[in-house]
Amino acid sequence: MSSSVILVTGGTGLVGSAIRHIIETEPAGSRFGKKPGEKWVFVSSGEGDLRDPEQTRKLFEKYKPTHVIHLAALVGGLFKNMKYKLTFLRDNILINDNVLHTSHTTGVKKVISCLSTCVFPDKVTYPLDETKIHLGLPHESNFGYAHAKRMVDVQNHAYKDQFGDNFTSAIPTNVFGPHDNFDLEGSHVIPGLIHKCYLAKKNGTPFVVMGTGKPLRQFIYSYDLAKLFIWQLREYDDVEPVILSVGEDEEVSIKQVADAIVKAMDFQGEYTFDTTKADGQFRKPASNKNLLSLMGGYEFAPFDKALDETVKWFLANYDNART
Ligand code: NDP
Repeated sequence: MSSSVILVTGGTGLVGSAIRHIIETEPAGSRFGKKPGEKWVFVSSGEGDLRDPEQTRKLFEKYKPTHVIHLAALVGGLFKNMKYKLTFLRDNILINDNVLHTSHTTGVKKVISCLSTCVFPDKVTYPLDETKIHLGLPHESNFGYAHAKRMVDVQNHAYKDQFGDNFTSAIPTNVFGPHDNFDLEGSHVIPGLIHKCYLAKKNGTPFVVMGTGKPLRQFIYSYDLAKLFIWQLREYDDVEPVILSVGEDEEVSIKQVADAIVKAMDFQGEYTFDTTKADGQFRKPASNKNLLSLMGGYEFAPFDKALDETVKWFLANYDNART
């Protein structure tokens, strides 16, 4: 890419900060490093509320992007998703429509938007793969978010068929890493447990993990995900989404997660599982076969090492982290 401006919406969040980190720290000119002629711009909602078409237009006018990695979204935990279904549906539809339409009208050469494995049907055969997104209704709990995100795939196909636009999407599994949201109420499992363990250590109270610890999940380190986005931007030119995930053989249990946090935090106190609390689905594996065949292989960071780095980041940045 010569003389390109890559605009990363949601550039201050977990995934956006990771892309910035990789672009700034990988050797310049390498597969994932900054290439000559590239200008990367990372924006937050402070630079423009993407729910608003006029603010979106002004943002694009200011930076004149040639490429867009579109991460901005209203994201939240189960409780928020259930309580504010219409807000999750409407805000995300507006954000996505404004970003895609403005990209189209300003001649952006390529857009990668971010979906999530939460958008897959509730009743579906496993492992998940890219062909199964629209095969049934999503789970009731994230009905609004999932429908809005699924529409991005529909829009991408329509923009391609009607105008030949190069718009595509990525589907990450559970992401974790520095700059995550460590809020105890609204966060995902890893940042939530890191914060809980930190407080247990600080207050001399037990570290209690909800459920049996047996469910399995695929977690991707945000720095790995960042590299996969950079690969997709530079080397993948098809409208079909790509699942960005570790392999099905790299699932880890919630107990393994909690054990790794206890170790990384050097927590010596009482550590238990509250088995009266619900576990959620036992596993919902996604296949990364398509990704690996397209990329020609990729070495993911070992889970324990990535978790250790995340805990270290949290401890060093506690005062400024989203808690
Ligand atoms: P974060 O919550 O960490 O960051 C969200 C980003 O979106 C922030 O930069 C935020 O800006 C921006 N944003 C939110 N609302 C608006 C708005 N109205 N206008 C402009 N910008 C806005 O999210 P993640 O990094 O975790 O998620 C990035 C993408 O990855 C999302 O599309 C999400 O759906 C997807 N995803 C995330 C997963 C995960 O486990 N975290 C899993 C699968 C997919 P500000 O800080 O100013 O509010």
